[in-house]
Amino acid sequence: MPGSVGGPRILLRRLREVMAEPESAQKRLDKIVVLIAANMVAEVCSVYLVNGARELELFATEGLKPSAVHATRLRVGEGLVGDIAAHARPLNLADAQSHPGFAYRPETGEEIYKSLMGVPVLRSGKVVGVLVVQNRTKRHYTEEEVEALQTVAMVLAEVVAAADLIGAEPDEPDLTRQRPFHIAGSSFAEGIALGHAVLHEPRVHVTKLIAEDTELELKRLEQAVYALRGSIDDMLETEDLSHAGEHREVLQAYRMFANDRGWLQRMLEAVKTGLTAEAAVERVQNDTRARLQRAADPYIRDRLHDFDDLANRLLRQLTGVTLASLSANLPNDAIIIARNMGPAELLDYDKDRLRGLVLEEGAPNAHVSIVARAFGIATVGRAEDILEHVEPGDAIIVDGDTGEVYLRPSQEIISSYSEKARFRARKQEQYKEIRDEPAVTLDGTKIDLYVNAGLQVDLPHLEESGAEGIGLFRTELQFMIASTLPSLRDQIDLYRAVLDAAGDRPAVFRTLDIGGDKMLPYMNLAASIKEENPALGWRAIRISLDRPALLRHQVRALLTAAAGRSLRIMFPMIAEVAEYKRARALVDKEIARLDKFGKEKPASLEIGTMLEVPSLAWQLDTLLPLVDFVSIGSNDLMQFLFASDRGNPRVATRYDLLSPAVLSFLRHITAKCREHETPLTLCGEMSGKPLEAMALVGLGLRRISMSPAAIGPVKMMVRSLDVARLEAFMEGLYGLPDRSVRAHLARFAEDHGISV
Ligand code: PEP
Ligand code: MG
Repeated sequence: MPGSVGGPRILLRRLREVMAEPESAQKRLDKIVVLIAANMVAEVCSVYLVNGARELELFATEGLKPSAVHATRLRVGEGLVGDIAAHARPLNLADAQSHPGFAYRPETGEEIYKSLMGVPVLRSGKVVGVLVVQNRTKRHYTEEEVEALQTVAMVLAEVVAAADLIGAEPDEPDLTRQRPFHIAGSSFAEGIALGHAVLHEPRVHVTKLIAEDTELELKRLEQAVYALRGSIDDMLETEDLSHAGEHREVLQAYRMFANDRGWLQRMLEAVKTGLTAEAAVERVQNDTRARLQRAADPYIRDRLHDFDDLANRLLRQLTGVTLASLSANLPNDAIIIARNMGPAELLDYDKDRLRGLVLEEGAPNAHVSIVARAFGIATVGRAEDILEHVEPGDAIIVDGDTGEVYLRPSQEIISSYSEKARFRARKQEQYKEIRDEPAVTLDGTKIDLYVNAGLQVDLPHLEESGAEGIGLFRTELQFMIASTLPSLRDQIDLYRAVLDAAGDRPAVFRTLDIGGDKMLPYMNLAASIKEENPALGWRAIRISLDRPALLRHQVRALLTAAAGRSLRIMFPMIAEVAEYKRARALVDKEIARLDKFGKEKPASLEIGTMLEVPSLAWQLDTLLPLVDFVSIGSNDLMQFLFASDRGNPRVATRYDLLSPAVLSFLRHITAKCREHETPLTLCGEMSGKPLEAMALVGLGLRRISMSPAAIGPVKMMVRSLDVARLEAFMEGLYGLPDRSVRAHLARFAEDHGISV
């Protein structure tokens, strides 16, 4: 049975010797593959690097045909090597050729090698190559061997970078950083900002990778983690945060990560393989990155940035680099540009000088975006290549409404945006003015406008927006930002805070909508089943019914929090009446439990269901007599109706919600609920857009729930609308053969002076 000879520490020492020799980079690589192959008892060791054409080029090999070097090239995503690069994660295959991704390259002579283990070569989180070992036998490489190869790949990344082997660019004067440049990104936080670019500090770069004294490195690492925890505690205690409940919550989640024993343990293990403390931090961060990036659920992927933030802070702690100087030199109209950042890094800046934020990556639901929204900092994310084009001090405009960024804008763009900013300020004033006015149409129809919420951070918005209640409280968010299952006490505390914030206004709690693409890292519910279609998989009420303890626990927390008050509960993803009955029976059991222990019950209890699976729309005559209310989840409902994944940018917006199909379908539901006198709400993203909201009112909805920022614009629409006229107009739309009736509705709005 083959195995590694001498372990990673010996190999690292040998690598250091090779790196110290005065050799060309190519020679070094040639030596390194021989060393690795010998150390890991592999017949083949190959290095593929991403070349200027973004292909994976075979740069060095021990074992494959030498003539294949620089000749064999694979696209990222092509073959097993391409797969490792595309997903930034290791592959460990005893029988590589039977893998569906295997791409045979005759010039390499690799057909005789059965097993393959490969890892990405990562530098500052980016894949710069792939390191592979192969054996003739169907060898099972151990976890330790995979880890060892990952450690070696890190050192290799430095060899590659030091030699500038990859990504070499021709020496042309760089005009791209002088011309105006426009980027269409995504809107993460609304607002318009004109200001000057400040580059967020790039990742601390680790140059010393191999330890001379492992004991010393272990001590350094422990001390740095200790200091990091202290600094987060300090941050939580600063004046600035003590009254900002929402940010506290973000930072507390963040403190949990810093105190995670698994994280420290993994880093200590990495030091023990021969790395310096800094290299160990980076090595573990590379793993975390690869692991979290694989999570299908965007909310979990977003937690990656919290870890990135922490790792960067820890590196600063270890290297003594601070951000203090950065904040001191901030201009008054700073627009921060970063590849990505964590919430604490944003909080490090003086927020009075911050106007905007542009992230090259990022996600709208990441903590940094939540904090930016809470501070009113216009934010654009997924601004591709901004870092390549921006220079510190550049004039820059951030349009957080449309997701656009203008670098070094022309005078015309500046004037038009100055006007837009003034217009926006006037609009905000108008929204404020109607905050306490009712949402009643011109012909006297009252429309109830509710907000969607899910974290403590959202609660103050209920009051600020002037909404009439919380139409959807997504309880899973508390579970998703925690690193362990929230306790009964944690849940009760949050639900009480929600009810306190709501006061006399209704708040509708949706029970856990997890599973499928919203897996909780600590629950490992579906570890053994890989789902082909997570959105259609084991999620939401399906998990709750199969694992009823979780739901009963949550219902217990809800009932306890609502003792003596009104409680509204609804279930996600109900597909058939029987499921609803089973879920409701669980609630009844918990109520019986309260009776048994003589505990106080809610003063009133309403139980309803989400309608987001189309099948339920055809069981309404049976369902409606059993429920107290229904809430349409248009996000999921539409993805199921059109069979188009809401998370896949290629198809998510392919079909128009303002289509005869959708409007007729929703009208059917509305009519049924009216017939049965069952209160109906729509709480998907659709209701937050004025034109869509207008159509919803036109087809019969009288209650819609949306993000808090949408309340002002939607209320404005409602107050300028004549429903009877709209209803009559829409009668002519349901039967049209068109794929979209958006233009018809927009024209109607324009002709009748409706604010959309
Ligand atoms: C929906 O599906 O429309 C909905 C409101 O729920 P979520 O977006 O949380 O799936
Ligand atoms: Mg849903």
